[in-house]
Order: sequence, then C-alpha cells, then structure tokens
Amino acid sequence: MKKRTCAIICHGGAGGISFPQRRANGLTKATSIGYGMLTQGRSSLDAVQRAIEILEDTSIFNAGTGSSLNLAGVAEMDAALMTSDMRFGGVGAITDVRNPIAVARFVMERTDHLLLCGDQALRFARLMNVPRYNPATKEKKRIWRRQKKARGNRYFKKVKNFVTHYGTVGAVAVDTRGLISIATSSGGITFRLPGRVGDTPLIGTGTYADRHGGVSATGHGEQIMRHMIAFRAVSLMQRLSARAAAQKTMSYAKRHQCACGLIGIDKRGAVVWAHNTKAMSWCFIKKGTLRLFKY
Ligand code: ASP
Repeated sequence: MKKRTCAIICHGGAGGISFPQRRANGLTKATSIGYGMLTQGRSSLDAVQRAIEILEDTSIFNAGTGSSLNLAGVAEMDAALMTSDMRFGGVGAITDVRNPIAVARFVMERTDHLLLCGDQALRFARLMNVPRYNPATKEKKRIWRRQKKARGNRYFKKVKNFVTHYGTVGAVAVDTRGLISIATSSGGITFRLPGRVGDTPLIGTGTYADRHGGVSATGHGEQIMRHMIAFRAVSLMQRLSARAAAQKTMSYAKRHQCACGLIGIDKRGAVVWAHNTKAMSWCFIKKGTLRLFKY
C-alpha cells in the first residue's frame, strides 16, 4: 500500500489571542510532538490524543488545567475523539481529571457507548484508574470571583455576550495509512450553568469525521450545535475543496450569528483553518514544514 503524506493541525480557540507567545509555544509543542508520532508510523488517533493532552496541560488554553469555571465555580469539561472510520468517544461535564481527552479515548475503546457525562463519567474514569486532579487554576478562580462580583450569583442569560475568548483546543491529523482523526477538548464557557454540555463532545457539532475528512470546531457552543458546524463542513468536503468547504461553512455560520472557527483535513490530505471571529490561534505541520498563526 502506498504511504500517504501525514499532516497535523492544532488550534487554541477562536476567541481573541491573549498571551500570543504562550499560545504559540503550546501549539508548536503539541503539533510537533503529534507530527513526530505520525512520522514514526503511529496512528493519527494517538497523535491527536497526545497533542490535546499537551494543550490540556498548558494552562493558557481553556481545556484541562486552566478550564473556565461554571456558575458554581467548578471546572466541568467536555472532550471527544473521532476517526474517519467512524469510531467516536466523548465525555461531557466531567470534573476532577487532568486529561478529559484520555477518558474520551477510554469511552471509545472500552465501552459500547459514544458519550458519558457528569458524575458517572468521573466514576467511569476512576474505574479506568484515572487519578483525581483539580484542573482549576488560581488565574481562573480570580476571573470567576471578579465576574461573580460584577454579576451576582444569578445565571447570566446572555452568557455569549460577555464571552470573548473561545479557548477550546482541537487537533486534526492524517496518518500514513490515510486515517483522519479529530480530538477536541474544552473547559466550556465561563459562568455557564452547572451540567451544561457544549458542542465539543457532541458528534457532528464540535467534532466530526468521516471518509470525506474531519473537522474540529470552536466558538459559541450553543450556536455550533444548532448549525452542526463540523458535520456541515465535512459534508461540503465531499464536493468542494477543503478551503472552499471551510469558507462556505464560515459564511453560513456568520449569517446565522454563530461566532466560530474550525480546523480540518480532507481525504486528499489538504489542511484548512477558518474563522469568522476576530482571531484564531493555530499551528500545522505538513511535509516537515511548520506554519503558525501570525501575532
Ligand atoms: N465551543 C466551546 C463551548 O461552547 C467553547 C470554545 O470553543 O472555547 O463549550
């Protein structure tokens, strides 16, 4: 069988690019390590999982350590993985683990289900010997206290209006066998209601792959869910180039007030990123050449 060209792209959210150097460092490390695994013949699934674990461990991103806190001051996290041969695993509103993406992989490989949520997802993680870990950082606690003071203890209905930083992380890779894999991990939106699950672990919304390609989306989760952004973009890849599919999806999203961004790879190995927000941080490597967002 002819070996395919491998490639990997990672993003650090479609919000503004605060602390660009820290973001650039995290994305460069995650993408390079993921690419190294691909060139050693490892699967794209292993590569995207590892890349996301690195981003989850980098506190500037809103995933894993440094996740934003909900109304109750708790970091409830979402994560999912999917492959172009239709394997999927996700966790929603999980607490007290360091790498939600690793738990999502256990859901994919050790259960008959696609998605586990809340306390029972945590219980499952413990059964898989995932240790206890508190992902809330001092920085995120400080932001939470400040917002709580400004808004009181009430749920702020127009939560999207004060969210400017969508900092979810995502990775898409294609390996030498042509398998495309996606991983997305998110700390959600600050001050969301406890129990809220965003687009990240819902198949077709924040994360989707099939034989035409794969996409990881970031941005305002509720709108991404309504408009099935990842599925929409991958479906367009069936008849359009990756770039045209991504651009068409972004203009559609803009017309429907869906602030978001995406990264993707199609079946021909074309790598793409697009957003309708002010900025999105990303990094990709293909044929040994690294490209990074401008800052
Ligand atoms: N999509 C995520 C969510 O709504 C947020 C983000 O992309 O940063 O949960």
